[in-house]
Amino acid sequence: MRLEDQRESDNIEDRRGEGGRSGFGIGRGVGVGTLLVVLAASYFLGIDPSVMLSLFTGGGPPVSQSTQAQRSAPDDAMGTFISKVLADTEDTWREIFQQSGRQYRDPKLVLFTGATPTACGTGQTATGPFYCPLDQTIYIDLAFYQELRERFQVRGDFAQAYVIAHEVGHHVQNLLGIMDEVQAARSRSSEAQANAMSVRLELQADCLAGVWASHADRTRNILETGDIEEGLTAASAIGDDRVQQQMQGYIVPDSFTHGSSAQRVTWFRRGIESGDIRQCNTFETRPH
Ligand SMILES: [Zn+2]
Repeated sequence: MRLEDQRESDNIEDRRGEGGRSGFGIGRGVGVGTLLVVLAASYFLGIDPSVMLSLFTGGGPPVSQSTQAQRSAPDDAMGTFISKVLADTEDTWREIFQQSGRQYRDPKLVLFTGATPTACGTGQTATGPFYCPLDQTIYIDLAFYQELRERFQVRGDFAQAYVIAHEVGHHVQNLLGIMDEVQAARSRSSEAQANAMSVRLELQADCLAGVWASHADRTRNILETGDIEEGLTAASAIGDDRVQQQMQGYIVPDSFTHGSSAQRVTWFRRGIESGDIRQCNTFETRPH
């Protein structure tokens, strides 16, 4: 991908290393004096310092009190790359929304390690990257990319960008009211029907990721030879049938919530080749 000239996004928050694993973060509101007292008391009384600290700060997990104060942009290569991809989706979707007289609202993106609080409950690495509609935020632990490389043999920067673009696709669905509609319909359905609707929602996010790539390439020439293939490989590798086969050795189509490898490739390709969100109506056609 060519992203050298792209700006970085203002909507990214780096929470990596913020203690998701240990569960022990120190709030900015706690003075050094307090800390020393706490550590000394913990040492002598044998009490876990995080318990002592929560006594001083009036209870509650100390980590959540510091979230606002520690808001920061990433400064490493991977973080900067994500930030540029996010900025590119902002530019692209702002333009597409404008063309149909709508206003795009940028989503937020949080990088974390281990676990982090979200409006949709605690975000976990094991969940993979996800979008929370309640706080309009994308959450990603970059360990997922390592998983993509090692478990699914997916490589390349465009494959990584596609993962972000898919989550931004969910944000677009949220802004357009599609997510709410599907949620309402799902609650009235059987489990198999609800899963089928999730598949359509996921395939649409793939198609929207393709629309982003198409637009961004037309206006900023971001794609290099092989990039589209990289994206298609990624879409194929993380299809439910492939993932299930990897994890449990057999396939249960009714439990698919993302779509098969072939379906994901089809819809991503459809978005990238048409560059038109009207081609992404996965709810009207049979998702082949
Ligand atoms: Zn998704």
